[in-house]
Amino acid sequence: MPSTLLKKVWDAHAVRTLPNGQTQLFVGLHLIHEVTTPQAFDMLRERGWKVAFPDRTIGTVDHIVPTRDQRRPFGDLMAEQMLSSLERNCQDYGIRLLDLSTGMQGIVHVIGPELGITQPGMTIACGDSHTSTHGAFGAIAFGIGTSQVRDVLASQCLAMDPLKVRRIVLGGRLQSGVYAKDVILEIIRRLGVKAGVGFAYEYAGDTFERMSMDERMTVCNMSIEGGARVGYVNPDQTTFDYIRGRPFAPQGDNFDRACAWWQSMASDPGASYDDEITIDAATIQPTVTWGINPGQSIAIDDRIPASADEEALEFMDFRRGQPLKGTRIDVAFVGSCTNGRLSDLREAARVVRGHRVAPHVKALAVPGSQSVRAAAEREGLDRVFTEAGFEWRGAGCSMCLAMNPDRLEGRQICASSSNRNFKGRQGSPTGRTLLMSPAMVAAAAVAGEVVDVREFASAEVGVGG
Ligand code: SF4
Repeated sequence: MPSTLLKKVWDAHAVRTLPNGQTQLFVGLHLIHEVTTPQAFDMLRERGWKVAFPDRTIGTVDHIVPTRDQRRPFGDLMAEQMLSSLERNCQDYGIRLLDLSTGMQGIVHVIGPELGITQPGMTIACGDSHTSTHGAFGAIAFGIGTSQVRDVLASQCLAMDPLKVRRIVLGGRLQSGVYAKDVILEIIRRLGVKAGVGFAYEYAGDTFERMSMDERMTVCNMSIEGGARVGYVNPDQTTFDYIRGRPFAPQGDNFDRACAWWQSMASDPGASYDDEITIDAATIQPTVTWGINPGQSIAIDDRIPASADEEALEFMDFRRGQPLKGTRIDVAFVGSCTNGRLSDLREAARVVRGHRVAPHVKALAVPGSQSVRAAAEREGLDRVFTEAGFEWRGAGCSMCLAMNPDRLEGRQICASSSNRNFKGRQGSPTGRTLLMSPAMVAAAAVAGEVVDVREFASAEVGVGG
């Protein structure tokens, strides 16, 4: 019987079916960070339990690390305590921690892939919603809460409800100036933020096949914003070429053997799906959110729809029928696990090169990891950003979540390459977030307002996917 990747990976990791119908699923890789683990480790200590598979658990620090000055001890006592507690827990339980001293630190969903830790056919869990990112490699990866972090630490297993699969087929070429971020914003806009509940999203079709791994990660990252617990792309030669030679990847003959197994986990031709939708890539435009969830977006040439939600309009201080083009911004943020990779920084730098950030705009370029930062500096991207008036920061989650000093103030409007525009997400309870691609953020930083990157003066606009 032809089968989907989801079913193959699920079956390969199923320990047993529980009386309530859930599957007890073995977790191949548990990624941990400083925010969702302290209580989980405390619960382990109280019960005298050990970590079942310390060698299948890897830690990093990302949410709370300051990005301006990363010297220890941190200025924020609470952040320092959280990091110290993760260090102690990793040491006590024999878990490898990729901290600031290693050169491998970064946002958990950036370092897993770039170090070759994330591999096809795996089950991956992490106490962060955007764990779906790792599905770009053909892994089944999901975010979990603190009590589940405890369960995985103690047993390396999770009780999971079975998922249906919706195949989202994207065909054709993306227009110039349209990126993977626009693709996923468009998918969420069309289907809604709850359509994915109970589903895994399989992204298929020649547009996804042409995408780089960075682009696939951007799409899978935001699957959770469409309600899907899991999003994945079937592994192919692009996947294998990306993984080859990375520090944690299989080496030598083992790599070839791994590739054969990874390939076998891809969905079979003729596999049946619970739902399937098709989108013409050429119809997708640069997309910007106007509301308070990632599904409330419009193409840059459109106007806020007549059906727009009242609460969102009130919070954002927008009107029905209003265009977003021309909206004055206060802050521009390029970064996060959605768009803080080298290719994202390259696209943003391409737009700002030779320009200056508008005087009223505070602009941040925040690499997703120490490796991304080092690679960007080798290419001189840091100079492009700083000469344009961006602040060039250390690696971390930064303004995606504002659990660190990078925060909006008051009613500021932020053009952001992150993934959530919920009320208060960027630190100020009244701050406003407009989600868009890194190139669009860069263009907005220079113009001082939301613009169409395709019309941006002298910008060489790239093509995503
Ligand atoms: S960048 Fe944002 S979404 Fe990604 S791991 Fe950090 S806080 Fe979570």
